[in-house]
Amino acid sequence: MIPFIDLAAQKKRLGPRIDAAIAKVLAHGAFVMGPEVRELEARLAAFCGARLALSCANGTDALALPLMAWDIGPGDAIFCPSFTFAATPEVAPWVGAEPVFVDIRPDTYTIDPDHLEAAIEAVQVEGRLRPRVVIAVDLFGQPADYPRLLEICRRHGLKLIADSAQGFGCTLNGRHPIAWADVVTTSFFPAKPLGAYGDGGAVLINDPDLWERMDSLRVHGKATPSDGMIPGHDPKYLNARVGMNSRLDTIQAAILLEKLAIFEEEIVARQIVADRYGEGLGEVCLRTPSVIPGGQSTWAQYVVEHRDRDGLAAHLKAAEVPTAIYYPVPMHRQKPYAHYPQGPGGLPVSEAKARQVIALPMHAYLKPKVQDDVIEAVRGFNG
Ligand SMILES: *Cc1c(COP(=O)(O)O)cnc(C)c1O
Repeated sequence: MIPFIDLAAQKKRLGPRIDAAIAKVLAHGAFVMGPEVRELEARLAAFCGARLALSCANGTDALALPLMAWDIGPGDAIFCPSFTFAATPEVAPWVGAEPVFVDIRPDTYTIDPDHLEAAIEAVQVEGRLRPRVVIAVDLFGQPADYPRLLEICRRHGLKLIADSAQGFGCTLNGRHPIAWADVVTTSFFPAKPLGAYGDGGAVLINDPDLWERMDSLRVHGKATPSDGMIPGHDPKYLNARVGMNSRLDTIQAAILLEKLAIFEEEIVARQIVADRYGEGLGEVCLRTPSVIPGGQSTWAQYVVEHRDRDGLAAHLKAAEVPTAIYYPVPMHRQKPYAHYPQGPGGLPVSEAKARQVIALPMHAYLKPKVQDDVIEAVRGFNG
């Protein structure tokens, strides 16, 4: 059976380095907020040209932390796509705000700036909610249209979050999303392009004051120097705000340091796999992915579209080629989210995509021979 994502091949390439990194943490015993956590934060920031990085327990908390730090709450609107993983809209009701669903572009699957602008104006006219935040998603690994999104956010006084859980490492014209977004969030869930051996997440930022507030929030709202600490008391037991417990385990940080060291090469390897798919499948009756001009995707997923998607899925299953559907039902069609507002005219692109998309095996260690078997199997479908 062909693996959909081959973590074993990556482990083999890293050799004894992972075991050694874990053994080092077991020896020093600082399992929470140990030295590897600080080192990883410095390396993550350097990797994507951010001033600072703040690690946390998962990519969902990474989205919630900046919302909490900005005091987003009841009466506030958070604009985000519906064609995404649940975590993106989920953090809005967490803080008492409402997600407002925006459609995606049919070519890149990222938030449609024109529809975003129309949705912001509709919310302003209605007057029930205050527009506060836009969460763009680097879906399947490619950067959203950040120059246009930043221009819209500036004009309307909104904060811009890049949900780069799938796209950490992606660039647009050579720059990472932090060049435009107020904060970039990511996830180290094992199946993400940069994955740990468990849960983890991070926020990238350029603003030291915001870093300090989020550092407080991830440890139960502990007092920070600007909150005025009481000398002689452990700040852990002085609380300046209501926070949460969201820390990255030191063992995961140690593992991620080793994986980050080869991540740039893995992105290159994923691009080679994507190019080979493009060549092999270009003229079949499928839509193969398009990336925004100037964009470099991390290829978290290689997603094609077919009019008889379910027929293709059954055909590939019979040929023992694993596939996945991201996402079968857009969030605005799911029960917990169906009552939240949508941009004018609804979300026809998101709904059409949900019926047509199918993801093929994609990882940095996909061998040309195996990939050719996948391409052959897809080509053998006459749907
Ligand atoms: C995976 C994912 C998240 C959440 O990450 P977790 O670490 O699983 O909490 C958020 N947004 C998107 C788009 C994702 O794919």
